[in-house]
Amino acid sequence: MKIIDLRSDTVTQPTPAMREAMANANVGDDVYGEDSTVNQLQEMAAEMLGKEAGLFLPSGTMGNLISVLAHCGRGDEVILGNQSHIFRYETGGISALGGVHSHQLPNQKDGTLLLEDIEEAVRWDDAHEPVTRLIALENTQNKCGGIVLPQDYLNQVGDFAKERGLALHLDGARLFNAAAASTSSAKELATPFDSLTFCLSKGLSAPVGSVLCGSQEFIQKAHRLRKQLGGGMRQAGILAAAGIIALDEMVDRLGEDHLRARKLAKGLESVSGLILDEGTPHTNMIFMRLAEHIEYPGEKVAAHLHKARGIRISLTGARSFRLVLHYWIDDEDVEKTIAAFKELLG
Ligand SMILES: *Cc1c(COP(=O)(O)O)cnc(C)c1O
Repeated sequence: MKIIDLRSDTVTQPTPAMREAMANANVGDDVYGEDSTVNQLQEMAAEMLGKEAGLFLPSGTMGNLISVLAHCGRGDEVILGNQSHIFRYETGGISALGGVHSHQLPNQKDGTLLLEDIEEAVRWDDAHEPVTRLIALENTQNKCGGIVLPQDYLNQVGDFAKERGLALHLDGARLFNAAAASTSSAKELATPFDSLTFCLSKGLSAPVGSVLCGSQEFIQKAHRLRKQLGGGMRQAGILAAAGIIALDEMVDRLGEDHLRARKLAKGLESVSGLILDEGTPHTNMIFMRLAEHIEYPGEKVAAHLHKARGIRISLTGARSFRLVLHYWIDDEDVEKTIAAFKELLG
């Protein structure tokens, strides 16, 4: 039985082209800056996003941590969303390792932080208060449904940050999904930001890694922090080779995943035991919950689908789920998934 793994786009396996590129990659010691494949990936990413330089990293979490550490000193403050990945899912790293204070603002349904909330959150120059240094946004915003933050909004926050002398960071783990679902290019979406990370290892299907982009000066600082955190890798070109294929071949096809997400959502809407979140899917993720008349818990539903049909989904609460589309899910898998839910929940 083929496993239809809809838990996340992090489960994506490298493509055959990636495995071949990995086997044949030119490599060197990247801590000495001598891995030509890593250098190529970094230049490519920076170019695509309109930044001066890039840095290859083991994970997006490390990219966000390094960015916050590069922009803020101990006791300084970062303004971020209470539904942001940095706040919720990075084990409090910015405070544990950086002593950086987080100022959490409510993410609105559309994934944004209200501009007036941001304005109000910026501290006075007062000996009692921490110093505000950074605003961090997320695009697509995962917890708000994989929603895309609009270009106008990003520009407004960018203008505000400039005006107030604050740095602006983007957790763009799924930035290319945002671009695929928007009229803006990834470069345009990246323009207001001083630094940004994106994941190679999600919808782009590379096995490992993220890239951090920013100014030459910022990346120099980030490079030192990467070493400090133990993220200096040696012949990392083996991994970067897959990243190059990801940028070359996988970016332009992300719209297919969004299309399949809509197809799947349409099918699931007709299942009487399911209630889809309003507006879902915005990109490659479907969020939904069990209707009230369904008596068994979400855990049971997920376990049954896994055991009986080889379909894996994520629980986001006692009665709610997330399903994520990606390169390894095809139309047949979508049909099978709809059929399995229909059979189980009417
Ligand atoms: C996946 C993800 C990250 C980084 O995750 P890693 O697993 O550390 O690569 C950061 N932000 C968001 C929104 C994510 O979805």
